[in-house]
Amino acid sequence: MTSLTDTLRACFTGKLLTDAADMAPFLTDWRKMWTGAALAVVQPDTAQDVAQVLTWCNANNVPVVPQGGSTGMSGGSVPEPSSANADQPLPIVLSLTRLNKVRSVDPQNNTMVVEAGVTLQAVQEAACAAGRLFPLSLAAEGTCTIGGNLASNAGGVQVLRYGNARELCLGLEVVTPEGELWDGLRTLRKDNTGYDLRDMYIGSEGTLGVITAAVLKLFPLPAAQTIALAAVPSTREALALLNPAQSRVGAALTAFEVLTDTCMELVTDHVPGTRRPVTEASPWYVLLELSITGQPDQAEAQASQMMEDLLGAAMETGWVTDAAISANLAQFEALWAIRENISESQSAVGKTIKHDIALPVSCIPDFLESTDAAIAQAFPQVRQVVFGHLGDGNLHYNASPQPGMGSAEHAAAFLALEGPLNKLVHDAVHAFGGSISAEHGLGVLRRDESARFKSPLELKLMRNIKQALDPKGLMNPAKLLPLN
Ligand SMILES: Cc1cc2nc3c(=O)[nH]c(=O)nc-3n(C[C@H](O)[C@H](O)[C@H](O)COP(=O)(O)OP(=O)(O)OC[C@H]3O[C@@H](n4cnc5c(N)ncnc54)[C@H](O)[C@@H]3O)c2cc1C
Repeated sequence: MTSLTDTLRACFTGKLLTDAADMAPFLTDWRKMWTGAALAVVQPDTAQDVAQVLTWCNANNVPVVPQGGSTGMSGGSVPEPSSANADQPLPIVLSLTRLNKVRSVDPQNNTMVVEAGVTLQAVQEAACAAGRLFPLSLAAEGTCTIGGNLASNAGGVQVLRYGNARELCLGLEVVTPEGELWDGLRTLRKDNTGYDLRDMYIGSEGTLGVITAAVLKLFPLPAAQTIALAAVPSTREALALLNPAQSRVGAALTAFEVLTDTCMELVTDHVPGTRRPVTEASPWYVLLELSITGQPDQAEAQASQMMEDLLGAAMETGWVTDAAISANLAQFEALWAIRENISESQSAVGKTIKHDIALPVSCIPDFLESTDAAIAQAFPQVRQVVFGHLGDGNLHYNASPQPGMGSAEHAAAFLALEGPLNKLVHDAVHAFGGSISAEHGLGVLRRDESARFKSPLELKLMRNIKQALDPKGLMNPAKLLPLN
């Protein structure tokens, strides 16, 4: 009898991995939290290939797990360890990284059309080569793909000024679970012609169809950028600084990030050559980035002056107690590196429990005051590692073991705290009107937990959409939608 793998091999010669060792890198996520099983890994070269693969999967009832750079935080890009549905065979992993062409750039329309597997960094570089900015920016940009960014509606460090991935996309090309190719590559900024299918696919984490290409919005390249690290007593002062900063410099404020002194300590301890940029340790720090367009020779001086004025005024009010401003590219990169190296430095001190939460910006100080205290009381074993995109109301409200408790022998005891700690944090987030996943999606990590906070009606509407667009339930099974 011909096996499913044999027929797949016959159809997709040269685009298929079936050997266990070849498939292994595609079956485990980058955090090594989830490992799954698959019939095969398929590596299409074109959107037409994707359509052919999905037609075959639909005919043979084979589930599909779309995968980009596999840098997602929620386990969405790897299959489950066994078939989610007893009637279905194991899925194929559909790796989109060979769909890696920049199809066109239109500087006058400020748009570009790129295939799903182009890395975010390559998208930024292609835009820059045409004298334009593609502003989505996150620490995984060398590996993550634009298809994955859109499927997970990624955020990153410039959301404050430019919005998240959803706001940077004008059109999509998508292959449906039946293998039909929808050309929605519209380059329009206004198009009110019915239901917005593009918005449906963005953030759907591969559960409705496969994104094969996208139209992206471009912006003027900044002529100068400057960044400052400002020491603040608490997030109350950080927040007090945000609105005046926006009023004063407007759209020039392109990032407003926060980190605690614990984060600073982790980075200075674990990243060689890093030092605290201000003299005295402070409970919190704000990273502010200003980006200026215009004439490069004047923009540099203008950006520095704006930052000095802003921080000078904030020091007079006592919101800011000390600050370091970048004077050149090396200092600019060194200050950003502190923020970008927090996750890696946190991993160096043991297992981590991560919470990617969103709150109304104005509630953040009260949330932190009450939730920090509740954690300190209930979980004295936990050292909090808190940082994030304050301007967007998005905190990475993470936990590490207390110093000296990060070794392998304590790992199981620390990870056993995850369930009760999640409950405490997520209940508090909900009480403040927040979200348990700001930018990382639900995947498998938050899939079932999300059911605690969504109304039955919202869940029913989401399931109706899934049923309408993927009637056989073949797309990324057991992801995003709660199992019960
Ligand atoms: C160091 C580091 C820093 C990070 N910082 C941020 C950050 O600041 N902000 C942020 O939002 N995220 C961040 N992330 C998470 C991650 O990089 C993003 O979620 C990214 O958008 C995922 O892209 P990817 O190509 O790796 O997607 P994958 O991980 O491969 O997939 C993510 C989801 O999208 C689906 N998918 C992938 N490609 C397609 C496609 N073409 N069509 C349909 N579905 C698809 C997958 O099935 C999966 O459900 C970070 C990750 C790392 C490792």
